Amino acid sequence: MIDLQNLLDDVVGDIRPLIGHGAAADYIPGLAAVDTNQFGIAVATRGGEVYASGDATVPFSIQSISKVFALALVLAGNGDSIWKRVFREPSGNPFNSLVQLEHEDGIPRNPFINAGALVVTDRLLTATDGSAAEAVRRFMRDESGNPGIESDAEVAASEARNSHRNASLAHFLASYGNLENSVDAVLDAYIAQCSIAMNCTDLALAARFLASNGRKADGTSFLSASQTKRINAVMLTCGTYDAAGEFAYRVGLPGKSGVGGGIIAVMPNNCTICVWSPGLDRSGNSVAGVAALDALTMRTGWSIF
Ligand code: GLU
Repeated sequence: MIDLQNLLDDVVGDIRPLIGHGAAADYIPGLAAVDTNQFGIAVATRGGEVYASGDATVPFSIQSISKVFALALVLAGNGDSIWKRVFREPSGNPFNSLVQLEHEDGIPRNPFINAGALVVTDRLLTATDGSAAEAVRRFMRDESGNPGIESDAEVAASEARNSHRNASLAHFLASYGNLENSVDAVLDAYIAQCSIAMNCTDLALAARFLASNGRKADGTSFLSASQTKRINAVMLTCGTYDAAGEFAYRVGLPGKSGVGGGIIAVMPNNCTICVWSPGLDRSGNSVAGVAALDALTMRTGWSIF
């Protein structure tokens, strides 16, 4: 039996020199002000035990990590029809790139780049009668057991004031008939889901369905085992921006990162891990976060390979 608590404390010691390396995302001014000298890590087992170290209870902006949960809610409610509107291939372009949309008739490469996530949020918006972000927040609250989870209004307002790129993507999608709702409604919902503030412990708990064949915390079925496998597969190939190959090489687990500096990773049938440190590398992944997942998986032997 591994002593997970000691292990996490050791991992924090290992990577401490890297905390503060990299830069916080600055294209959303509300994120740029975050102190990069913070690091948290939490592991939630399938059975609901939690082990944590560092700043694991400090809330941060989950940003693109929300895309996994929006996709899961769409698959749970609507099944596979979303795959007619978004592909499942790594993009090879920056997460907010416009060029590929024109080459592929308005079908985004995958649900984790911004164009694909806008399509997923659009579907969730229709399926929830306009309350897509609230559906994501409710899921987070239910699965983590923390009823206080909210979107951060300041971060959302800051992103809304600087959303020219996402607005362009949404208009582009609409021009190809790949949006069901208005551009403004989709952008609002997308920004609201990205600005949800959560800590490592709550995110690791909320993501547990990915390590439990789609079962929720209360044991009921949310997704089928094969839908869960597929989300994990898309996370592995597309979840960490243009560094998914390097992430698979170093960590060997499905993962999804966000520009707030958080990353969730999944050891199927075992546990979920959430790390957070705001300093990002050039690909947009947390420097200390990736290093911690590298160290943790080295020490435990956790890998899907
Ligand atoms: N809300 C951010 C954006 O759309 C999310 C980016 C990210 O975390 O990758 O630019």
